Amino acid sequence: MSINPKIPAIKPQNITVENLSNQIIEGNKVALAQGITRIESKAPHHIQFANDLITKILPYAGKAVRIGITGVPGVGKSTFIESFGTYCTDVLQKKVAVLAIDPSSSVSKGSILGDKTRMETLVKNDLAFVRPSPSGTTLGGVAKNTREAILLCEAAGFEVIIIETVGVGQSETLVKGMVDFFLLLNITGAGDELQGIKRGIMEMADGIIINKADGDNAKKAIFAQKELERALHYFPINPSGWIPKVLTYSSLNYEKATDVWQMITEFVETTQANQYFFKNRNQQNQVWFTETLKEGVLQRFYADETIQKAVEIALELIKNNQISPFTAAKNILDGWVKPT
Ligand code: GDP
Repeated sequence: MSINPKIPAIKPQNITVENLSNQIIEGNKVALAQGITRIESKAPHHIQFANDLITKILPYAGKAVRIGITGVPGVGKSTFIESFGTYCTDVLQKKVAVLAIDPSSSVSKGSILGDKTRMETLVKNDLAFVRPSPSGTTLGGVAKNTREAILLCEAAGFEVIIIETVGVGQSETLVKGMVDFFLLLNITGAGDELQGIKRGIMEMADGIIINKADGDNAKKAIFAQKELERALHYFPINPSGWIPKVLTYSSLNYEKATDVWQMITEFVETTQANQYFFKNRNQQNQVWFTETLKEGVLQRFYADETIQKAVEIALELIKNNQISPFTAAKNILDGWVKPT
């Protein structure tokens, strides 16, 4: 994979869908960042621009392996991504993009993921692109931005896309819905390997890594690995036909990165052979289409001033027990004129 050309950035006032998409397709990281900024923007003219940009680059997207990484804060996600990402760039000569979804950034505007100086080595690596979580919007909005950012990164030639999230809120489900391979990072605890992680998240995982398997922890990690492997036998069979793997890892060196890469490669080969890989991506697109449509309908509905008034009146009537909530809702829906 060629290293992205160091072409100077297009001045914001000179950006067009045409020149920006061309530069993104050429692998220019500055243009990629500019493109992501546009898709994150809420300015009405940027929304149209972003849609046109995505349409333009779509034929060039889709070729990367999309990996989701989750685990509670402190488990070592960013250190793992530094280590594994560097293995991918330095040993495999692959271009790696790292994106983040942080639900705290949409709620409090302070980001768990973004506050630290993170992934210092990868940030400086020519073959890598690191983009912190977009903040100040709804979780749904963050997810939409991230999905589009994945497409832009792929169009820019990134072959490994890592989406990082924290084990908080609904971010896991969102990330699971946009990746091919979902990886859970865990650390050993005093016999609480299973209680420590929410079962639901374990069920989503295609791979589990017992992290920080070094020093005094090395032996405990192997024990935890065996425990988890046993536990996974009792889990429902994955629709992908893939049996999740448990590995140990230490970010102190990237000795075990080969195993992680091999696991992901095997997953891709297995699921491409049985077609699940493509079905899953297709289904993800359908879900996102439906979700986007629903969100749009809701937005338009509530933006209608007549509706806003009617809702206000209905709430008052409900408060005074003058109408049932169901009748009130039905009346409003029946009276809603479809927007043209
Ligand atoms: P995150 O919150 O999940 O992103 O966790 P960080 O990557 O920030 O790591 C949390 C702490 O664990 C840091 O102090 C790291 O230096 C340490 N750490 C991360 N990975 C390893 C590892 O493989 N071995 C050891 N011993 N420490 C690690």
